Amino acid sequence: MGVTLDAIRALQEIELQIFDIRRQLARKEKFVTLQSAKAASARAALEAEQREHKRAQVEMGDFDLTLKSRSAGIDKIRQQLLSIRNNKEYAAVLSQLNTEKAEVARIESKGLEMMTALDARKATLDAHEKTLREEEQRLTELKNQFAAAQQSFAQKLAELDARRKQAAAPIAPEIQTMFNRVAERYDGEAMARIVRSNPRRDEFTCEGCNMSVTADRYNALKTRDEIHTCSNCGRILYVE
Ligand SMILES: [Zn+2]
Repeated sequence: MGVTLDAIRALQEIELQIFDIRRQLARKEKFVTLQSAKAASARAALEAEQREHKRAQVEMGDFDLTLKSRSAGIDKIRQQLLSIRNNKEYAAVLSQLNTEKAEVARIESKGLEMMTALDARKATLDAHEKTLREEEQRLTELKNQFAAAQQSFAQKLAELDARRKQAAAPIAPEIQTMFNRVAERYDGEAMARIVRSNPRRDEFTCEGCNMSVTADRYNALKTRDEIHTCSNCGRILYVE
């Protein structure tokens, strides 16, 4: 280790804290996104049910009109019966009356079924309304949590950004660029320690990706202040 690697490690320590906060915020933001989708789908389900309910109400209204006009028809036939003197004609109209009565009874029983179905629809509609209220309430809670987290982390992030600038200052720009690129790829983890993988042999691995690292690299980092990156994952290597 040396001055350069020490500086990069100091930067790494701050970078990890920044990424940790970013990760927490991203997680809360993701909850908001997921809940938004849930609320939107609850709203769509409610709107579909509202349309169905409306349609069933219209159907019920049409049905009532049909029933009224058929019932009026029966009254007319009854009136007709009163004025008939002829037996044969009386029998025919009476039969017509009975047929019509049976038909109206059939329609009425269908009306009862429709009424029951409409009540069930109303219950479903209420359930959908309740679900939407709950999902929207949850969404508001999650949005508030996210906003609160953003607010509470704002100062900490500003502090870390300032410390990061300070820590980066002594590091050469091209190394900073490399560091930033690797950090972005591995959630802030731009560095990896070299560990000895076999206690009896000179075998080493990168702790970031577990792939082997040559003994030469290990020895170079042990004695010199150089930048070596893992040939597999690209992380900046260090030894302790
Ligand atoms: Zn590696």
